[in-house]
Amino acid sequence: MPTFSTVPTVRESACGNPFDFFLSTWKKMKIHEYQAKDILAKYGVAVPRGEVANTLDEALDVAKKLFANGANGVVVKAQIHAGGRGKGGGVKVAKNIEEAEQYAKQILGMQLITHQTGPQGQKVSRLLIEETAAIDRELYLGIVLDRAAAKLVFMASKAGGMEIEEVAAEDPDAIFKAYIDPAVGFQPYQARQLAFALGLKPAQINQAVAFMLGIYKAYVETDASLLEINPFITTKDDKLFALDCKINFDDNAMFRHKQLKELRDVAEEDPLEVEASKFALNYIKLDGNIACMVNGAGLAMATMDIIQYAGGSPANFLDVGGGANQQQIEAAFAILLADKNVQAIFINIFGGILRVDVLATAVVAAAKNLNVTLPIVLRLEGTNVEEGRKILEESGLKFSVGTTMKDAADIVVAAAKGGK
Ligand code: GDP
Ligand code: MN
Repeated sequence: MPTFSTVPTVRESACGNPFDFFLSTWKKMKIHEYQAKDILAKYGVAVPRGEVANTLDEALDVAKKLFANGANGVVVKAQIHAGGRGKGGGVKVAKNIEEAEQYAKQILGMQLITHQTGPQGQKVSRLLIEETAAIDRELYLGIVLDRAAAKLVFMASKAGGMEIEEVAAEDPDAIFKAYIDPAVGFQPYQARQLAFALGLKPAQINQAVAFMLGIYKAYVETDASLLEINPFITTKDDKLFALDCKINFDDNAMFRHKQLKELRDVAEEDPLEVEASKFALNYIKLDGNIACMVNGAGLAMATMDIIQYAGGSPANFLDVGGGANQQQIEAAFAILLADKNVQAIFINIFGGILRVDVLATAVVAAAKNLNVTLPIVLRLEGTNVEEGRKILEESGLKFSVGTTMKDAADIVVAAAKGGK
């Protein structure tokens, strides 16, 4: 049986649902920690005092101001759209202004490599400078949609500062979960149960409950797809703070959040995915070497599965949509070819609204314009399929056409293995 083993690591997969891959193909908009903390603060969740800095001078100004206002230390934090910054050397605690300067110099402009950036890392163009907190305990709070339960789930754990996926894999009981009934929303009693499960002290419970209700409100009102505070800390004097925050939003809802949309930082996104979004193409880059061009998200998933089943590895998910036009198909081709790992191209189209002859014309034009030398394997069915086949035959270009999906998958996997 084909499986969903092509699933890339997605943060939302902490709930362990196989259909999480489908969620990952829903575009999400990410923002920086400092932006996420601004949102938290608006919903009454305490965050350390601090400001973002785009230059070394700005970083020093912020640090000086914090020290002048009684900070015992400042933390210099790289702002990139990836977690694991601490381990990668992107979070440093400075005891004085000299150390702050040294760390800011070190981190600003660095190519920060974490387990989420890939080996090439991500360039740091911004720092968050914050007052340090006297950490007593590091906890975890997060909200995601559990697709199996068809409910939002509020998660809490005593194992803050660790990757929640690791906690979920090693000790799932260490994650306390409160499922939220969509009809009534997250209830104060649920927040209290989580607060007690975390072992918070009586003096901390009310504040924790208020923060959790604020976090839930922030999640719902911003159309978030994930909100995570890791670590959520307690201090020796029983205060609570969000020390880190990650929020992803449902891209499909951003049309009704003009202000949130402005927080997008395309410099942080995969350049090919940014290019694809300009043409309304649903493209997700993966690690394999067989490029896929498919119409419809379900067929795109089935295509990735059948490539795996045939022993290959897909280079991407690409849904050109039900009504793709020639311009979109040419753009899609250019995006697929820009991925240097690609060894062969699999075009799997079921012509409904998108007629097969329109697709064939676009494929021929693109292959000629872009001088494609890689093997192209097609599987075509549906409206005007005969006209489509004829266009391909008469083009003078070399395409292989599979009779069935499995047949086409076998051909493309062999082609990718054999290079040209
Ligand atoms: P991440 O590695 O990208 O998740 O970045 P975080 O913002 O979570 O920071 C990583 C770790 O740095 C946290 O788990 C804390 O242990 C530590 N850290 C962050 N801010 C402070 C701070 O103000 N004081 C101290 N002592 N440690 C901090
Ligand atoms: Mn963190």
